[in-house]
Amino acid sequence: MLTLLLIVLAVAGLLVVMRREAGAKPALALLGVLGLVGLVLGAPVIGTLLLIGAVAVAVAGLPALRRKWLTPRIFAIFKKVAPKVSATERTALEAGSVSWDGELFSGKPQWQSLLDFKDDGLSDEEQAFLDNQCAKAAGMCNAWDIARERADLPQELWDYLKKEGFFGMIIPKEYGGLGFSAKAQSMVLQKLSANETLMVTVGVPNSLGPGELLLKYGTQAQKDHYLPRLADGREIPCFGLTGPRAGSDATSLPDTGVVCKQVINGEEVVGVRLNFEKRWITLAPIATVVGLAFRLFDPENLLGEEEDRGITLALIPRDTQGMEIGRRHHPIGSPFMNGPIKGKDVFVPLDTIIGGPDMIGQGWRMLVECLSIGRCITLPSGATGTARYALGWSGGFTRVRRQFNVPVAEMEGVQEPLARMASLAYISAATVYQTANLIDHGEKPAVPSAILKSQLTEFQRVLLSDAMDVHGGKAVTLGPRNYLGIGYSANPVAITVEGANIMTRNLMIFGQGAIRCHPYVLEELAAKDANDVNAFDKAFFGHAGLIFGNAARAFTLGLGLGKPSVPFSGPAAGYAQDIARLSAGFGLCADAAMASLGSTLKKREMLSARLGDVLSNLYLASMVLKQWHNGNKVEGEEALLHYSLQFLLHRAEQAFVEIFDNLPNRALGNVLKVVVMPTGRRWRKPQDDLARDIAQRVSTHSALRSKLLSNTWDKDDGAVSNPLARYNALLGDYDRAENIYRTVNKAYAKGELPQTALHPEARVEAALEKGLINDDEAAFMRTFEAEVLEMLTVDDFAYDAFANDKSTLIDHNAAPAKASSPTETIVK
Ligand SMILES: Cc1cc2nc3c(=O)[nH]c(=O)nc-3n(C[C@H](O)[C@H](O)[C@H](O)COP(=O)(O)OP(=O)(O)OC[C@H]3O[C@@H](n4cnc5c(N)ncnc54)[C@H](O)[C@@H]3O)c2cc1C
Repeated sequence: MLTLLLIVLAVAGLLVVMRREAGAKPALALLGVLGLVGLVLGAPVIGTLLLIGAVAVAVAGLPALRRKWLTPRIFAIFKKVAPKVSATERTALEAGSVSWDGELFSGKPQWQSLLDFKDDGLSDEEQAFLDNQCAKAAGMCNAWDIARERADLPQELWDYLKKEGFFGMIIPKEYGGLGFSAKAQSMVLQKLSANETLMVTVGVPNSLGPGELLLKYGTQAQKDHYLPRLADGREIPCFGLTGPRAGSDATSLPDTGVVCKQVINGEEVVGVRLNFEKRWITLAPIATVVGLAFRLFDPENLLGEEEDRGITLALIPRDTQGMEIGRRHHPIGSPFMNGPIKGKDVFVPLDTIIGGPDMIGQGWRMLVECLSIGRCITLPSGATGTARYALGWSGGFTRVRRQFNVPVAEMEGVQEPLARMASLAYISAATVYQTANLIDHGEKPAVPSAILKSQLTEFQRVLLSDAMDVHGGKAVTLGPRNYLGIGYSANPVAITVEGANIMTRNLMIFGQGAIRCHPYVLEELAAKDANDVNAFDKAFFGHAGLIFGNAARAFTLGLGLGKPSVPFSGPAAGYAQDIARLSAGFGLCADAAMASLGSTLKKREMLSARLGDVLSNLYLASMVLKQWHNGNKVEGEEALLHYSLQFLLHRAEQAFVEIFDNLPNRALGNVLKVVVMPTGRRWRKPQDDLARDIAQRVSTHSALRSKLLSNTWDKDDGAVSNPLARYNALLGDYDRAENIYRTVNKAYAKGELPQTALHPEARVEAALEKGLINDDEAAFMRTFEAEVLEMLTVDDFAYDAFANDKSTLIDHNAAPAKASSPTETIVK
């Protein structure tokens, strides 16, 4: 009995000490006292074991002792097994900053630190730009004409974009740009996602490319020359990194620049002779200035002693001799400008190098640093905007499309994808906005940029599929009336560019995060590089304390013992507490995976991807909570909050389970399962009731629908018709129409109207004649039904419309050539 009591006291006491990361002294005291009690009160075995435990804690936990006996031995092993970090990886690891992602890695996230990033919204100027210029630009896009007829934006739209400064959103005002905040850039791109070609065309110059590189690294002369010209569209930039041999592995680029001398206008000039082949370069066919990445060599040592100077970036004017530019690729779905660029013996002076000679060899660092901001904004905003438009169209269509005498939005099979779409749009909007807010506070979120890029574009893929499904044949049939099909087919572009999603999920998120965001790993590696045993001791034993702390936190919180304090109230509080619990489990699993797999973890991409999935889902859930905390809530939003957080936390737990099941060390996998989920999984998929409620709201004229579609192009005020505005108008009238449908259909079912009144229009006329509805109602229904029919209508084309070469047309209905009759054949 005494033995059992001592064991229970020791375990409980140690869990408390570990959970608080209180250090070795309290643990030592606890084990020492309990051990002595055991010996004195007649339980010698457990007493001795507890005292042995106390000695072990003293050796590992008391710095003076362990630095002498333990640390040098561990350091020697660590130096052998620690993964080698290449120069390229180190550059990526050191780029950007760590904020909320680091908190999640720590296992004890301090929510207040996230809430402290205040959100001041958009400035009046930014909001006015969104309301006016963005609406006008979106209203100038005839999607069919752009995608199928001219394969370009119309000239007047190009002129408008340049005139209004769309290409200079990131360029400060002193250089003639708009100097917008990250939040405003994101909102602009979301609004422009009404047309994907427009979004890409504006997004690319405002993302990773010459503008951002010049701002950050350009010489004053380069800034003074180019920035005003980029801001007003006199210069159109592109950036060439990718080539036939270097895609995801961009640092392996085989394009070269060789430092040499050339006589120009009778004067000898030192410059670079470039040979390169790039492909898939967005805006290249029309670019006036090309940002180019190449490997610089200095074989004659004209610049110094080193021959291989590393990846370098230069800005090359389009008309430079030897450059071949202007041909086009044909990206799937969206014909934005994209093409190859080749250069043979292109000579450029040294002052074309971005940042001048000081930045020679710094190209990869420059690109990776810029990526942490641009990758958080452009594609994630495009994905979010697309999500919101697709949701708006789908909600409208499914309400006005009636089958089996009811709107298809009333059918549960359709409600399921509608709710999923609403949730993905809600999560995306919160995540991109709150991450942009972090950027506006000076953060450069490197790991979140990989999370946002891959997760939000994957959401876009799911959501566009759902939108296609609920539209049925309406979206399958291409033509000017199809507002969805072109964007749907362009989705792989977002999946592939700026780090293809498979690689980003499997390699980047956890691979980069484990070292970059981990509170101790980077310090341990730095200590190894510096051969500094004292720095290693501090980092390693801090790390050990964290592991014990995370194990204790995950286990006790999993058992429901104690709740972390969180600065949320209402429905958000429980989710925030559970994110903290899962964060402790994540910290523990991350350490367990790194310790058990060492440098081979890099190759275990499936495990790395799942660890990245846990981090991603916790990050997205945190952003949803922050948005909820900051924003004005509307009726029905709480259901969407529950749905979205349950969806994300269910996915996080699923990723945990797959980690436990697939860790090669099976014993470790099983121990982790018990520690992290002692009572099993806590989160189910969102419940059907939530889905029904959300689907109802997003397919009707509701506050929730309005909130989800705020700041989209939703007025029918452009040169082209706006399907979102038309659906919104129909939904505004829907309740009245539904009442009339009900009266008329009931009368038809009872046989009060002629059996031949099969169309709604015919029933309305028959009901009017019978006096079941009045003139007003009939007139209203005629207009309403005409508009519904217009939204349901699809296009058809002349028989020869699709054949570019009309001479290849086959006349399938031509009279067949006269064949000999069977009887004739037999006779012969
Ligand atoms: C329309 C379009 C526009 C573009 N615009 C530009 C531009 O303006 N400038 C520019 O420089 N580039 C641009 N790109 C290039 C783009 O960034 C690359 O396509 C992208 O980086 C992926 O390279 P890749 O297509 O060669 O795929 P590959 O590298 O051939 O990869 C093929 C598959 O293998 C996966 N993979 C590769 N390595 C790993 C790994 N280690 N672990 C797991 N999976 C891996 C990838 O995820 C992908 O699924 C553009 C591309 C397209 C299609």
